[in-house]
Amino acid sequence: MSLLNTLVASAIPLAPRALIRKVSRRYIAGDTVADVIKRVAALNAAGFSATVDVLGETVESLSQADNTASEYLKVLEAIARDGLRANISVKPTALGLLLGATHCERNLECLLNAAKGHSTFVRIDMEDSSCTQREIDLLLRIKSRGYGNVGLVVQAYLKRTDNDITPLLGTHENLRICKGIYVEGREHLVEDAWRDRRAINPHFLRQVARCFGSGTFVGVATHDEDLIDQVIALAGGQGIAKTAFEFQMLLGVRESLRDRLLAAGYAVRIYVPYGKDWYGYSMRRIKENPRIADHLLRALLTR
Ligand SMILES: Cc1cc2nc3c(=O)[nH]c(=O)nc-3n(C[C@H](O)[C@H](O)[C@H](O)COP(=O)(O)OP(=O)(O)OC[C@H]3O[C@@H](n4cnc5c(N)ncnc54)[C@H](O)[C@@H]3O)c2cc1C
Repeated sequence: MSLLNTLVASAIPLAPRALIRKVSRRYIAGDTVADVIKRVAALNAAGFSATVDVLGETVESLSQADNTASEYLKVLEAIARDGLRANISVKPTALGLLLGATHCERNLECLLNAAKGHSTFVRIDMEDSSCTQREIDLLLRIKSRGYGNVGLVVQAYLKRTDNDITPLLGTHENLRICKGIYVEGREHLVEDAWRDRRAINPHFLRQVARCFGSGTFVGVATHDEDLIDQVIALAGGQGIAKTAFEFQMLLGVRESLRDRLLAAGYAVRIYVPYGKDWYGYSMRRIKENPRIADHLLRALLTR
């Protein structure tokens, strides 16, 4: 990074919200269901499938959790109405997990029933390590009640994932594997999690191999080109068809890479967030993006 970029990057938290808003348009479909449906339809037309995320994490009241569930119900109805190739990704804390596991489970079941009626799927996002076991337990409880249209995310940076994944593998299972985003600033996690991609990537690849080996459908969620090349080599070596798994990427990130994968015949799903709670999500994406300073400067100049 240039000195100018370094200065701009360290000043990001001080940037006016209007400016962050402008940059975030690349990563967020908009505020409303109509906005996200329009973006998903365009992605579908270009050949991508999608997963829709209503922005927002931990809620402060059960009624807030119920509002999140209602919003997702509207998304599911719109997906079905317009015949879109899309499902939803939900954060259990946004459905009330930390306020009451039973309440969260009821909200999730409500979404699963609606999704089943529309022949679609619900992905449970994985949150910070204080939620890992609770979210695995949530999935196992829900599955024991016969729901098949649901799957979890596992994080390759967590050392425990190697054990956690074992009961989640099988021909009727569906996992997303990502590196994990919550380690930042959590020093206590260092013992439980790797921070270095030289340790994370082999672990990531090992879990993908276990999914391939067990017939588990896997969403490979990364923008890391080296890792993607290794997954492609692994799939080729094991005779896994290009559409028997999928690559997953965030809206607005590494678009040329996602286009190349699609053109090469791989299935690619785009994670499409929308909603009023755009600020926290935008700040996380902006901090991850090494070219953020360029985007911010360009946005400043074109205001
Ligand atoms: C579809 C999807 C779903 C996810 N779900 C979860 C989840 O449930 N739980 C969870 O903890 N994490 C989740 N993540 C986030 C994930 O864990 C990583 O933090 C994030 O994807 C960055 O890791 P990476 O694998 O892309 O590799 P990195 O090594 O971080 O990045 C690889 C390359 O992509 C570029 N890149 C990465 N992010 C950006 C960006 N925002 N803008 C521009 N370039 C970028 C980097 O500069 C680098 O060149 C998800 C990610 C995706 C793609």
